[in-house]
Amino acid sequence: MDGSLPAVFVSHGSPMLVIEDGAAHRFLRGYGAQLDRPKAVLAVSAHWETPAPLASTAVRPDTIHDFGGFARELYAMRYPAPGAPEVAERAAELLTAAGIPAGTDPRRGLDHGAWVPLTLLYPDADIPVTQLSIQPHLGPEHHWRVGQALRPLRDDGVLILATGAITHNLREFFGRGLDSGAPDWVTGFADWIADAVATGRTDDLLDYRRLAPHAVRNHPTDEHLLPLFVAAGAGSEGHVGAPLHRSHTYGVLAMDAYAFA
Ligand code: ZN
Repeated sequence: MDGSLPAVFVSHGSPMLVIEDGAAHRFLRGYGAQLDRPKAVLAVSAHWETPAPLASTAVRPDTIHDFGGFARELYAMRYPAPGAPEVAERAAELLTAAGIPAGTDPRRGLDHGAWVPLTLLYPDADIPVTQLSIQPHLGPEHHWRVGQALRPLRDDGVLILATGAITHNLREFFGRGLDSGAPDWVTGFADWIADAVATGRTDDLLDYRRLAPHAVRNHPTDEHLLPLFVAAGAGSEGHVGAPLHRSHTYGVLAMDAYAFA
């Protein structure tokens, strides 16, 4: 180990990512081996919304198939990683100590925001995993503060894996082919995010909805971008984020990933 793990944001795209070959699929399949092996993963998924942060203390989290209309083989997939109840308890303690009331949930399993990228990152499913919920009604700054409060987990060997999407307009997604070109309103937004991350413009990032081009078109609702702010907040002070991967699928789903060391 050479220091703590980065906090990582990945775009999980369509659930088909787990079986469809492509640039983002290959990136995720290779990236797990590039990191020091985590003791546990805290997955912050765009697909679990609660009024206040909850961390799952499930000992054997179920695989949740929270999507409809995709290939049958996806519904047969399981991600049988053990749970990480101690990490969940610690996350709730850190948040509460930072003035963000948080709790635990003994039942919550892993939704596809977590298990799709985890299947590619850690196919052996032998690293304990817990999930943390998001609070869309509380906006970007709250999620940045959540990340900041969870920063010490990185020193404990926990991989903070924030999972959402850099662009996420599902109405524009349906009907486009896997290899469709990305329209300017998608690339313009993704490039703006990349620049704000790389130059450490946190205030701009948190105000992205007012400042970034085509923000609302790319995120009619912004639950899929909120995990990015958790990862950014969990980065060390004085460090800027690093792009790990950039691509797009179905034209309108940017698959960009970032590390915050
Ligand atoms: Zn999603």
